[in-house]
Amino acid sequence: MNPYLVERLAPFGTTIFAEMSALAVATGAINLGQGFPDTDGPDVVKQAAIAAINAGHNQYPPGIGVPELRHAVAAHQQRFYDLAYDPDTEVLVTAGATEAIAASLLALCGPGDEVVTFEPYYDSYAACIAMAGAQRRVVTLQAPAYTFDADALRAAITPRTKLLLLNSPHNPTGKVFTRAELTLIAELAREHDLVVVTDEVYEHLAFDGEHVPIATLPGMRERTVTISSGGKTFSFTGWKVGWLCARPELTAAVKTVKQFLTYVNAGPFQEAIAVGLGLDDAYFSQLASELRDKRDRLCLGLEQAGFAVTRPHGTYFVTADIAPFGETDGLAFCRALPGRCGVVAVPSVVFYDDTAAGAALVRFACCKRNEVLDDACTRLKALAR
Ligand code: PMP
Ligand code: GLN
Repeated sequence: MNPYLVERLAPFGTTIFAEMSALAVATGAINLGQGFPDTDGPDVVKQAAIAAINAGHNQYPPGIGVPELRHAVAAHQQRFYDLAYDPDTEVLVTAGATEAIAASLLALCGPGDEVVTFEPYYDSYAACIAMAGAQRRVVTLQAPAYTFDADALRAAITPRTKLLLLNSPHNPTGKVFTRAELTLIAELAREHDLVVVTDEVYEHLAFDGEHVPIATLPGMRERTVTISSGGKTFSFTGWKVGWLCARPELTAAVKTVKQFLTYVNAGPFQEAIAVGLGLDDAYFSQLASELRDKRDRLCLGLEQAGFAVTRPHGTYFVTADIAPFGETDGLAFCRALPGRCGVVAVPSVVFYDDTAAGAALVRFACCKRNEVLDDACTRLKALAR
């Protein structure tokens, strides 16, 4: 317990990603924990950043983001989803999706409000709900298929519910919410007059089935804040260029908070991500097909090593059950894994309130070079011996 940290943030300590990446560095283990690619994204995007820096575009960009990027985001939503957004009033550039999530929650909910989300949930959701002073109510995605009980979702919504916080494709499970599931969620949002904040950073990494932005469903564009970022789509996670799209009143509310968090960030990188968003369709489909192959490679290797694997439909991640090894404590398993076989993974239990539901689940990242995935799978085979 840190005596200086305010009580509402006491449960949050250090993120599991920081802990496990530090463990990988300290032990020299292969890091399949934190989700970042081990190769750079497209050279034309990289060169655009270098050109912007060399052109002297190195001072504060406008608070809402450089016009090139806002226009590129609007054009991207139109091209892929047939959604029209005004780049001047309905698009806001943020410091990664992380800031878009934080600013949305701080702007749109407060003490006395409840936020409904699914577990396992990306770790920043719980921390940001706590920072806002609101309460989270979670609905469990049931392993191994990660479906949810519609009645449980209905029961989680109360008169205090202010917003629904979604993530599809979903970290850590790799679930891609189906159109039928999203239709049900949308009906509830309309019935209870809720705002939906949806984190779609893996929008271009849906391998099987389609990614359906909930904003495309009837009546949803006006009540939805759609969040994404350039990190996953262009394999530049360190640049931290994110954005959100929403109707003007929602965008303005989030902007009020955002301007006091970072004000602005990543000026020249914003210009580069604008170039990326304009790449042709082949770039986006090739990215998905490369990651699909990596998913298959890692799933096969994990199965051969003895894990029970749920094949994810999207994202960077594969979730595996350690029960076949006669083990049930994923946290202890992950802390010991570098010593046992030189690999780092993330224990899924940290993404659950219902710790029993996630105890034996472990998340591996597949966004690594094939030889790295193969090396990791060979090492993991030592577990069965
Ligand atoms: N949401 C999800 C579901 C994520 O996995 C991540 C991590 N990349 C983020 C948000 C944060 O994105 P960014 O790096 O753009 O802040
Ligand atoms: N989104 C990345 C993951 O889930 C981690 C980003 C972070 O460390 N905050 O692995």
